[in-house]
Amino acid sequence: MFTAFLIKYAEIGIKGKNRYLFEDALVHQIRNALKKCEGEFSIHKSQGRIHVEAAGEFDAEETVERLKKVFGISGICPVVYAEDEGFGKLCDTVVGYIGRVYPDRNKTFKVHARRARKDYPKESMEINADLGEAVLRAYPEMSVDVHEPDILLNIEIRDKIYIYSETIPGPGGMPVGTGGKAMLLLSGGIDSPVAGYMIAKRGVKLDAVYFHAPPYTSDRAKAKVVDLARIVAGYTGPIWLHVINFTDIQLYIYEKCPHEELTIIMRRYMMRIAEHIAEETGCLGLITGESIGQVASQTMSSLAATNEVCTLPVYRPLIGFDKKEIVEVSEKIGTFETSILPYEDCCTIFVAKHPVTKPNVKVIRRHERNLEEKIEELVKTALETKELIVVE
Ligand code: ATP
Ligand code: MG
Repeated sequence: MFTAFLIKYAEIGIKGKNRYLFEDALVHQIRNALKKCEGEFSIHKSQGRIHVEAAGEFDAEETVERLKKVFGISGICPVVYAEDEGFGKLCDTVVGYIGRVYPDRNKTFKVHARRARKDYPKESMEINADLGEAVLRAYPEMSVDVHEPDILLNIEIRDKIYIYSETIPGPGGMPVGTGGKAMLLLSGGIDSPVAGYMIAKRGVKLDAVYFHAPPYTSDRAKAKVVDLARIVAGYTGPIWLHVINFTDIQLYIYEKCPHEELTIIMRRYMMRIAEHIAEETGCLGLITGESIGQVASQTMSSLAATNEVCTLPVYRPLIGFDKKEIVEVSEKIGTFETSILPYEDCCTIFVAKHPVTKPNVKVIRRHERNLEEKIEELVKTALETKELIVVE
């Protein structure tokens, strides 16, 4: 019934001179998102709106599902375009529109007209009244309700006339790519995919790094991380996932350092390695799924200890979230079901019975000196042997 969508965007409309950059980024993201959809689309901007028009056959449901994942979109309105062929013709078009879109006409409505073109012969109020009258004449079972109408019939008079009455909510946020790029530490758990989603929603492109510890973590655990990256990529576009073989580093730490400090020291090496890759790939920050107090390695002292090894900013969007709140987001974005599949976490393989909850940074640094002999070489090898998976 509809062959086009009017795309509304909120925040990006207010960016002054940067507006064009944001609009272009949004057009680019929409184009990317629809690449895998059935059908050909023309995507263009005009007068503060973005239009997605299908040329020929297309799958409306799939198209809407894809658009609902493009950050920067606040609303998706299925729209009918009419040529301006006089007001009488417009009335017919609108009556036809209601007839098709609302087979059950036991509804209240309100016409909301806007003129972007002041040379149109009628003013907005007049259009509202006259179109309303035409609709009532055609469908006496309908009635007008100006406060809480079932149907808000939008009429925008521009180069063409746009008719739409439905707004499907978009995800909001900013188009990916407008905010630079950051490196997500992605594990197989619930938290890190949510953290990545939240930062990407602010317009930040994601790269990701996963620390894999075969044979302690299985190929299945790695496949699960790839699956999670793929779900997140449904929102962000392609993600470059760097897989680091962490086994030797982990075993070496296990051999040389007190076991209560194992997790903290491991996390410090993860951050160091992530930062190294981030700097090589032009990322402006790191992202983790940490939340204060969730586990021993996420107390304020532990976070301070992991934080101090890097100079890039570390973004922890879940820092003040309860697990329940994180789960809600993961369910909403579709990562939860995958996250809860059983897997071995490389962090938890060698976990001590009583990990430190208040690590002392000086002590940690002193114990890390036990690693002096081989650690540099091990880190170098880990970086040299890293595997890159481009996840789309
Ligand atoms: P998640 O649910 O994201 O796995 P978690 O509650 O298991 O988090 P930790 O294991 O302490 O928490 O990890 C904290 C953060 O460190 C994770 O959110 C993630 O950003 C990062 N991290 C942990 N393990 C790995 C790993 N193997 N590879 C990449 N990043 C990791
Ligand atoms: Mg984890």
